[in-house]
Amino acid sequence: MTERFLRYVVIDTQSDASSPTCPSTEKQKDLGRLLASELKAMGLADAHLDEHGYVYATIPANTAKKVPVICFCSHMDTSPDCSGQNVKPQIVRQYRGGDITLPADPTQVIRVAEHPELNNQIGNDIITTDGTTLLGADNKAGIAEIMDAAHFFIQNPKVKHGTIKILFTPDEEIGRGVDKVDLKKLGADFAYTIDGETAGHIEDETFSADGVTITIEGVSTHPGFAKGKMEHAIKIASAIVDSLPKTTCSPETTEDKEGFLHPISMSGALEQAAIGFIVRDFADEGLKEKEQLLESIVKDVMKDYPRSTYRMEVREQYRNMKQVIDRHPETVDYAMEAIRRAGLQPHRSSVRGGTDGSRLSFMGLPCPNIFAGEHAFHSRLEWVSRQDMEKAVQTIVHLATIWEERA
Ligand SMILES: [Zn+2]
Repeated sequence: MTERFLRYVVIDTQSDASSPTCPSTEKQKDLGRLLASELKAMGLADAHLDEHGYVYATIPANTAKKVPVICFCSHMDTSPDCSGQNVKPQIVRQYRGGDITLPADPTQVIRVAEHPELNNQIGNDIITTDGTTLLGADNKAGIAEIMDAAHFFIQNPKVKHGTIKILFTPDEEIGRGVDKVDLKKLGADFAYTIDGETAGHIEDETFSADGVTITIEGVSTHPGFAKGKMEHAIKIASAIVDSLPKTTCSPETTEDKEGFLHPISMSGALEQAAIGFIVRDFADEGLKEKEQLLESIVKDVMKDYPRSTYRMEVREQYRNMKQVIDRHPETVDYAMEAIRRAGLQPHRSSVRGGTDGSRLSFMGLPCPNIFAGEHAFHSRLEWVSRQDMEKAVQTIVHLATIWEERA
């Protein structure tokens, strides 16, 4: 398990939002090729990397029962927010508690106070980087776990299961992880992403998400002769941002089930300016309310600029997967049972974000998210424990057998 994981994290697979290609970076295929060849070597004859950077493979059923086809999915790319080049993993064996200082940069300290989950890792082997890059446990822990579970099924043909599909995606971190997935070729009925944080957790709920652009058309004149005429688009845009709620409704003032309205870009000149927003809420009505609030703020500001105009465009990004998963409660029930059989207390929770599973669910493939054990992802303090990864492998194995039992 650890060997696999260490083999994958040293391959740089950082994605790049500014690239128009799929995969966004060619180097993601380096890992894809390795995974496809390892799966083939295990005996999965159809394992392959396609031209868009997706890896597909099938573990054939070994039961006479008619079992729904389930898929396990992880992403190969790492976050553009933190370097993934020259990753040098280190293992803290039999962790005894206390802060972990990373060897190549002593300013990088994984503090128990900030990472209380370390308190549950006493005696475990913890894998970190040397402090100069991210680790990439997000989501190579999930990949290694799925690979290890596949290996287990091939080595233990007496353990009964239906057809199992394996899917590794590129570009999840830039929101394009399922853009070019071929669901017909995949042929799965239900899927699980293995991309969650704490051992024992399963997530069946994500944000619903829209993107909004407000474009302001001001009135331009020569600044020397502008009195009573000029309506400055940059100033109008600034007034809008300044009028947003300050103590509620923003990422820095909300938690749990609260949504937000969040400006992410602003550009412009005298004549025209644009503000980009992301809107997040667990309920679709909450999204609508926040968009109405935004429009009422814009209208209010525009009253002071009678000859200027605005345009508001709303784009759907993804929807709360719970709307789909609630129609197939067995996907979550079986996963909770699998976590229990792996010796953990199952914990059902929600993600303040989206996953590949949010979009897969609405594309017709219900897809909750199961823990991979990754922590402090997208940062140089990222860590994962060997024991949590092993629990994830057991969960995957139990889950496939439970689908067979209940068929
Ligand atoms: Zn991830």
